[in-house]
Amino acid sequence: MSGGHVRNTAAMVTSPRCGARTRDGTACRAPAMHGKRRCRMHGGARRSGAPKGNRNARRHGMFTRDSRAERHQVKALLEDAWGLLGELK
Ligand SMILES: [Zn+2]
Repeated sequence: MSGGHVRNTAAMVTSPRCGARTRDGTACRAPAMHGKRRCRMHGGARRSGAPKGNRNARRHGMFTRDSRAERHQVKALLEDAWGLLGELK
């Protein structure tokens, strides 16, 4: 036998790791998919991970300082309006 059936695992060993942050805060050590930088659990597989036009990030933006300040302004405006109405009475 010349070892023809030995699996070549070198590619797997040297392939880039996924490195995505897992829930326990450690880096994912699964090998990244071919031509991808993430493993199949972290977006390497098709139709997984964040889709194009992902709105999760934007939804999260509802709570950024900017939109908070904006809402604060709206609230102040409303309070002004109510105050004006009160003065007109
Ligand atoms: Zn991964």
